[in-house]
Amino acid sequence: MTDRQFTNCTIDTLIDRLKGKLGIPHVLTDQKTLTFHSLDFSEETGSTASAVIQPATTQEVAEAAKLCSSAGAALVPRGAGMSYTMGYVPKREYSVIVDLSRMNRISVINTDDLFITVEAGVAWKQIHSALLELDYWIPFLGPVSGMVATVGGGLGNNCVGLGKGDINDYLLGIEVVLSDGRIIQTGGRATGDPIPLLRHFGPDLTGVFVHDGGAFGIKTKATFRLVHRPGGTSFASFGFEDRERLVSTMCECARLGVASELTGLARYHHRQFASEPPPTKSERNAIVQKIIGTSSSRWRGIRDLLRSARPSGVKFLGAYEYSFHAVVDGFNQRTADRGLAAIKGIAKKQGGKKLPPILPLVMRSDPFQPIGRLIQGIQGSCSIPSNCVVPLSRAHELTEGLERFWQEHSATMQQHALEKTCNYLISNDMFGIEPILFWRDKPNPLRFSVLNPTQKNLLENTSANLEARQTAIKLRRKLLILFSELGGTHYGIGKYYRYRQNLQSEDIWSLLDEMKTVLDPGRLMNPGVLGLE
Ligand SMILES: Cc1cc2nc3c(=O)[nH]c(=O)nc-3n(C[C@H](O)[C@H](O)[C@H](O)COP(=O)(O)OP(=O)(O)OC[C@H]3O[C@@H](n4cnc5c(N)ncnc54)[C@H](O)[C@@H]3O)c2cc1C
Repeated sequence: MTDRQFTNCTIDTLIDRLKGKLGIPHVLTDQKTLTFHSLDFSEETGSTASAVIQPATTQEVAEAAKLCSSAGAALVPRGAGMSYTMGYVPKREYSVIVDLSRMNRISVINTDDLFITVEAGVAWKQIHSALLELDYWIPFLGPVSGMVATVGGGLGNNCVGLGKGDINDYLLGIEVVLSDGRIIQTGGRATGDPIPLLRHFGPDLTGVFVHDGGAFGIKTKATFRLVHRPGGTSFASFGFEDRERLVSTMCECARLGVASELTGLARYHHRQFASEPPPTKSERNAIVQKIIGTSSSRWRGIRDLLRSARPSGVKFLGAYEYSFHAVVDGFNQRTADRGLAAIKGIAKKQGGKKLPPILPLVMRSDPFQPIGRLIQGIQGSCSIPSNCVVPLSRAHELTEGLERFWQEHSATMQQHALEKTCNYLISNDMFGIEPILFWRDKPNPLRFSVLNPTQKNLLENTSANLEARQTAIKLRRKLLILFSELGGTHYGIGKYYRYRQNLQSEDIWSLLDEMKTVLDPGRLMNPGVLGLE
């Protein structure tokens, strides 16, 4: 450990003080832990943290923040580390990663006043499981990575994903610790009443801390509105040969406003699903039980299963270039079915071929899949996704631009055996794409940690493929230029996507920069995120 001088003390002194406050086991300084916690899925590197701390309470976060900031060390919050935009990858030397994984308690579920309060390190799947037996839920279920991804990380990245809307739609307020140790309550939490009121009972500060990537403070708690569960849910899937028709279908369905989820997949994922071993008998039974258990009635669950399940799993997707999947929630099953009928009408009019809706049916019954299955590609290839969101009217322009990009770089991609795909999504009346690059490589320790045993066996002895990795990184960086030219915005800005360049004027940036000084006078909260130093 280097003993370089901080503002007021050395790193070793700071670490000793942190150990005194948090307990020795919760201040980690071994090289393996430091490297692991400083890596994300972007494959790009920053600095390595000097320490990883694991506070268990808001008070401990505040005490630790005070110690770090008075020592001049940067504070970098980390949830589950499921990002690919360098959000928690330290930029400066002498950074302390604040790992929120011990703050994983659900504090309150109140079905009289309809809210839930959770600590920032709670994973979305935990919320889903805790509410499963109740008549209430948060209609936004969390990001696809929600098996481990946390509420704090979701707020930092403004996550979208499964269910209806995005993280903001049901957010009532948060608790946040500033770099100097002040503890702030926002939105409906700000009155101090244990029952949160309106988020906007006056000016609301919550928004300042959403999608800030942790630039302004460390979120320690969040309160969300609970909503009565839908009385019925309906599913549809369609196959498309033509991308433009898929995109038109998705945009037209979005304008209709009845669906909770509208997604599109392309051939790579059709091949990937087909290449996976079929579920074992016990896995199949578990899926059946979950589908029946989460359907509006037992009869409906059985009916959906009979209409959707095929002995060959989802191999039928292989016949199509693209697939479209819709989920409609309704006040009751009848209203859900009526909404779905309208969606089906649009898809048919666009030439879509009706398919068994097994994918959305299974995903809704058990929304959160293991991370290794999601982040690695066929035969365990490594992948890096990007995302870009535009208004519905620019959806075609965006997808055509991406197609041109792939064509322009096809020789390079062939040379390094890079593959690609793109997922399509609608979120809050915006159209989004998620282009993904795949290559064969030795997985880094973060990737390795999320692999399942089969993937681990497959990849254990794979050698590093630096050239392909560097090509993937470079191509992904070039995508940023394309997104910028097409006026796209992004989820999970982190230290990767352009933010300042997307603002209409420098005045907005100046104001933000001044806010940074007010909220984080030493400018020690996650330096570099959003471009704020
Ligand atoms: C397989 C896979 C699927 C994904 N699917 C989706 C998806 O559907 N939708 C989507 O939006 N994203 C998705 N992502 C990206 C990412 O997983 C999500 O954005 C997720 O919300 C990140 O949560 P996390 O807990 O892992 O946060 P981290 O990655 O640990 O952190 C994210 C950012 O928030 C900051 N942060 C973390 N915790 C706090 C806190 N308590 N206080 C202040 N700042 C904090 C970090 O510094 C960082 O800037 C996916 C990623 C993977 C690997």
